[in-house]
Amino acid sequence: MTPGVKVWSATPGLLSEGPRWHEERQELLWVDILGRQMHRGTLSPHGALERVETISVDRHIGAVAPADGGGYVLAAGAGFLFIDDAGSVCELAQPEADRTDVRMNDGACDPQGRFWAGTMAYDESPGAGALYRLELDGSCTTVLTGLTISNGIGWSPDASTMYLSDSGTGCVDAFRFDGSSGAISDRRTVVRIDQPGVVPDGLTVDEEGGIWVALWNGGAVNRYAADGSLLATVQLPVERPTSCAFGGPDQDTLFVTSARADLDDDALGRQPLAGRVFAIDGLGVRGLSCLPYRGRTPQSSGGECYTRNGAA
Ligand code: CA
Repeated sequence: MTPGVKVWSATPGLLSEGPRWHEERQELLWVDILGRQMHRGTLSPHGALERVETISVDRHIGAVAPADGGGYVLAAGAGFLFIDDAGSVCELAQPEADRTDVRMNDGACDPQGRFWAGTMAYDESPGAGALYRLELDGSCTTVLTGLTISNGIGWSPDASTMYLSDSGTGCVDAFRFDGSSGAISDRRTVVRIDQPGVVPDGLTVDEEGGIWVALWNGGAVNRYAADGSLLATVQLPVERPTSCAFGGPDQDTLFVTSARADLDDDALGRQPLAGRVFAIDGLGVRGLSCLPYRGRTPQSSGGECYTRNGAA
């Protein structure tokens, strides 16, 4: 295995995704999209996984973000969910409520605390995906349509640029980002993956502005400069890394999730660690903090969730 790469999670997920370091609670959040689970992992003083708490819901979870004031916001199924600290689940905006052919995929919060998340069709139909923004008042705005597999989202350290990967087109695009309004403009492609079958999946941005992109079917995470030039490649012992995020007490460990679903016996024989979460140290750069959702939630407004574990 590449020096510095360690197997971190004890068990594999089907489609482990969306690692996020919750700095305030010093825990790693991640999801299993197909397993319909959100995980919270605490670390030992040596950085090993200490304990995992898991919350299951009744729909596919694309992404999670911590909520300011407690609890977690999820992009799941046809829209957004909130899970309070007791594990109760509430529906927030449901922009795709009238469709069963699409689901929420990756998402992340911007520096102002809005939660962005995109969709994809289950059959990966070109152009069937959209990008949504959960506003601070709980309403939902359609930001982009015509995406295919809306995936990793991140912001440059000065928050002037937003990055979005689309696994359907194989591109990571950059936009000028207006923090006060949340508007994006001046779309341009910064990374185009041209290896056959390899596509960009989740991404994160480090404090130097480097863009770390998980390469689905590429068995690696690449670091790109803001102009799209390739700066580094870290090989992983699995073909399908799905996303990455910096975390740990010093924000300098890169956590990488991976997928196991749909691999046949031969593929699993070659990569028995598929589905695990990996931790990579020694990269020499720190990440930006995972940003929380700062909008209104049932917990922050003193309300109560009306379902438990999605069993509505
Ligand atoms: Ca993804």
